[in-house]
Amino acid sequence: MKKYYFNPDKKFTAVEEKNTILKKSQIRIKMKNCGICGSDIHYYLFGENGGRKIIEPLMLGHEFSGEIIEIGSKVNNFKVGERIIVNPALYCGECKFCKLKKFNLCENVSFFGSAAKVPHTQGAFRENIEINETQCYKIFDSVSYEEAAFAEPLAVSLHACSFLNEYKNKKILISGSGPIGLLIFKILLKYTKNENIFLADINNNVLNGAKKLGSSNIINVYDSSNFTKDYNNFFDIAFESSGNVNSINNIIKVINKGGMVIQVGNMPGGLLGIEYNQMMLKELKFFGSYRFGKEFREAVDLINKKAFSFEDMLTHSFKLEECEEAMKVASNKDISIKVQVYN
Ligand SMILES: [Zn+2]
Ligand SMILES: [Zn+2]
Repeated sequence: MKKYYFNPDKKFTAVEEKNTILKKSQIRIKMKNCGICGSDIHYYLFGENGGRKIIEPLMLGHEFSGEIIEIGSKVNNFKVGERIIVNPALYCGECKFCKLKKFNLCENVSFFGSAAKVPHTQGAFRENIEINETQCYKIFDSVSYEEAAFAEPLAVSLHACSFLNEYKNKKILISGSGPIGLLIFKILLKYTKNENIFLADINNNVLNGAKKLGSSNIINVYDSSNFTKDYNNFFDIAFESSGNVNSINNIIKVINKGGMVIQVGNMPGGLLGIEYNQMMLKELKFFGSYRFGKEFREAVDLINKKAFSFEDMLTHSFKLEECEEAMKVASNKDISIKVQVYN
């Protein structure tokens, strides 16, 4: 069984290892499709993600689907041959946040493909993966492994949208039109008119992607130096989905007084230069949206119901053994939107 590690020196190594002995409550899958996330790209480019540094070899990848090839002796709800989506987060169920059902804030969470803990929690860039039964969800025959691998970013986007309860006639800005921004757009279209949603980015390739999805308002904030003047105090709601400091400073200018800002993009760790006092002067409501909780189940149900299409976002697919090339292409926003590896 091949595993593909990304090392602290930013090089990939392929390692042949035997499958481990399965624990009673575990399922072994053949990994099928795995999406490359913004956080994987951060690890690849900078050796860290939001302040979490890679200090030992780490398999990237947490947005994955697969086929069951073996089950532990205590697994009752799944059988060999079934096709599943995996929730990359394993919650402890014991801490105060789990007790409040705020699972995304779990104090002891393990998340596939993350350097948050030492030893790191290994990800999905490998042929076979062992997973706790509680993290597995069946997919319908009508759903492809490609589509299934969109469950995690869809859950992230559903969680971000869960902070809104009033859409009527609200002007909404999505600042950062990568996969999360585009998925937020797809979700919002179910609740409000296209004309009320504005997608901004600095990259024309990404904005063309937004156009293909049918967006009627796209703004290249790099070309339009007047963006903050033209749209001064214009928006009622803004999603920050780029993780860029300029983006949040733009939002603070274009959001109306009393407006709502949802931070879903992953900013760099440490101190940032933002116009913080505007939060008070404009009475902004600021929400941090971190990963997802119950929204993973919702995302699986929506994917099984074929509520969304994803093929308009998936620009590239690579074989698992080409994961290094896949990372290179995924990091180049001039050519890609969503990239997957398959096995
Ligand atoms: Zn992700
Ligand atoms: Zn917990």
